[in-house]
Amino acid sequence: MREVIIKTLEMEGRNPSGYNIAGIARDAFYSRGSFSGFGAHDEATWRKAVEQHKKRHAVGDMVRVVLEVDGLTEHHYGRIAHFRKANGGGYRGTPVKPHSAYVELVEHGARTVPLAEVTRAEDDFEIFTDYSDVHRGAMNGDGYFRCRDCGGNTYKGAQVKVVHKASGQCVRLCNGCDDIDRRVRLGHSVMWDGRTSRTTIFELRENPALITGPVDDYEADMYRQWADVLPYLVPAEAAELYKKWRQERHMISV
Ligand SMILES: [Zn+2]
Repeated sequence: MREVIIKTLEMEGRNPSGYNIAGIARDAFYSRGSFSGFGAHDEATWRKAVEQHKKRHAVGDMVRVVLEVDGLTEHHYGRIAHFRKANGGGYRGTPVKPHSAYVELVEHGARTVPLAEVTRAEDDFEIFTDYSDVHRGAMNGDGYFRCRDCGGNTYKGAQVKVVHKASGQCVRLCNGCDDIDRRVRLGHSVMWDGRTSRTTIFELRENPALITGPVDDYEADMYRQWADVLPYLVPAEAAELYKKWRQERHMISV
């Protein structure tokens, strides 16, 4: 039952972790106290149950917002401090359908953001817990990855691999260290990479062809080395040119 619901949500392009699955099961499949079967639910009942059991944002939730900072699009994380009305005013009591969230950002002060532009932070990360997934590629003599946070002192092995979906960057942690604050730190490290590289990003935005400059040209090589280290920061047009450039070179060398 659970799996059918999760699959259906995924097929509809929804993230199952944002829904109360038990609630959907109860409302869409068990009506009037008896199980009505998988095929028995009608479209309207399903839709209503899904809408009803979408997890709401709550005060204290860690969320992600998108900010435009000095010409760069940045993803920032923070916790919802309270909700606000469309006119900026506060709610008395529990807001039923709040308009905006006042988010206290970890790295960037605070912002009032419409709820439609607020994403649950946990949706930004993919979590792997199988030993082989977590430790694949461990090159040190131990044959396993230590927890990044406490493993340096204790040799404690990682138990989860947290992947920041937007960049593909990852961090390996033990269960004790894997919390939303450390996941968010990974997301912020990507944001800091962007700030450190802002000049390069702007140059390649302005003139994407810089990345396909002559081999052995010092500057062109610098752009390419930068793109190899931080591929998720390369502006789209330059990334496309660089991809073609590499393909062509591969063909020549073959
Ligand atoms: Zn740890």
